[in-house]
Amino acid sequence: MNFQNQEDTICALSSPAGKGAISLIRLSGGHALQIVNSVFSGDILQAASHTAHFGRIYRNNEILDEVLLTVFRGPASFTGEDTVEIACHGSVYIQQQLLELLLEKGARLAGPGEFSLRAYLNGKMDLSQTEAIADLISAGSKAAHRLAMQQMRGGFSKELQELRQSLLDFASLVELELDFSEEDVEFADRTQLVKLVNEIKRKVNSLENSFQLGNVIKNGVPVAIVGAPNAGKSTLLNALLKEEKAIVSDIAGTTRDVIEDTIVLTGIEFRFIDTAGIRETKDSIENMGIERAYKQISNAQIVLLLIDLSETDEKTALEQIAKFRERSIRKEQTFLPLFNKTDRINRADFERLSTEGLFISAKGQINLDRLIERLLQAVHLDESENELIVTNVRHYEILKKCTLSLGKIEEGLNAQLPGDLLALDIRETLDLLGQITGNVSNDELLGNIFANFCIGK
Ligand code: GDP
Repeated sequence: MNFQNQEDTICALSSPAGKGAISLIRLSGGHALQIVNSVFSGDILQAASHTAHFGRIYRNNEILDEVLLTVFRGPASFTGEDTVEIACHGSVYIQQQLLELLLEKGARLAGPGEFSLRAYLNGKMDLSQTEAIADLISAGSKAAHRLAMQQMRGGFSKELQELRQSLLDFASLVELELDFSEEDVEFADRTQLVKLVNEIKRKVNSLENSFQLGNVIKNGVPVAIVGAPNAGKSTLLNALLKEEKAIVSDIAGTTRDVIEDTIVLTGIEFRFIDTAGIRETKDSIENMGIERAYKQISNAQIVLLLIDLSETDEKTALEQIAKFRERSIRKEQTFLPLFNKTDRINRADFERLSTEGLFISAKGQINLDRLIERLLQAVHLDESENELIVTNVRHYEILKKCTLSLGKIEEGLNAQLPGDLLALDIRETLDLLGQITGNVSNDELLGNIFANFCIGK
């Protein structure tokens, strides 16, 4: 991304591409008002901030559309600059013509996330808040939405800012000592510093640990259903999908690379991986192509192994479970055998299985509520209440480095390291914490973050 041309007035379609009732085109920059004014039937040059104006847009003396403009004057706008939002009719033709017209009049197409970048550069938001916008827009469940909202409103970065500030105060004292190195004074109370470092470590750790849950909330829980052909996989999937009314099917075209079915249970999204395979081709672990089957299993956080009890006996089922668990399940995964078609068997013949998994009937919808309970248990939801939760991989990576860096400070303090070396380690931690909130940033970092946004944001 180019950071040199912050002077340009940028424009982009901010509503989804394609046909709709209404589309929104946004312009931001020093010339936003003049550019729009030059093609608009009314006069908005003197318009007050936060006012709406109805009128026509002309191109080559022809009416292109009737629109509603909203004028925002910097700094009281999202980007901090003068901004005009044009609500036009949502035909693809109008969108294109209008954008072309704005380019002719001197605007430039915005890059990915450039509106948000400007909001950040103009001090309207810190980095983690800006990143939360991307999350908010892609939030697919109540819990994900709540998290993104919390982060956008600054909950997460406020905590880190405070930690960073107290460490910064210490860094200044330690660095001050360096100026008096001849005199061997100690401004920074080492015992206090040890305490502070410990406190920061605890908080950083708890944020770091929250990531797994944050990730679950943000991205959903991947679940794989495996089993022999005719074990009842698609029947089970359909029954589960029916269980929950708020189904988000048809998510092709999103960033996920396989077609998935999703159910949302108490705000958490469970994603059934690659169910297209189950539904259309009757694939199974035996014949779906071992590699693909194992990929599906290894990507899952929860693996459901479906066994058709009408086709097996207790001993064979136990062996199958043991073999599967040993070969395919990692210890961080939740593995749950499901014994299906219990309507067709005599339970007494399978008593030893009851400690291994759940007896169900996919077709008869028996025990599916227990299954849903087990799915929810597998993500340990209860720990999350009222805590700050990290959902962003970038933050998580930095927090991990923070832990290491705090460890170095601790070691240094234990070894009574001279102030100049201690100061270096403290600086490193400060730098890392600052990278999350944006107190410390560079072009490469910003480029990385904003490149992941879509255009118009
Ligand atoms: P898949 O190949 O694993 O996807 O299996 P299907 O879901 O297509 O099921 C195979 C057959 O088993 C179908 O005729 C289902 O109606 C039947 N089936 C599935 N679950 C049950 C069950 O709980 N009880 C009985 N009796 N039949 C079931």
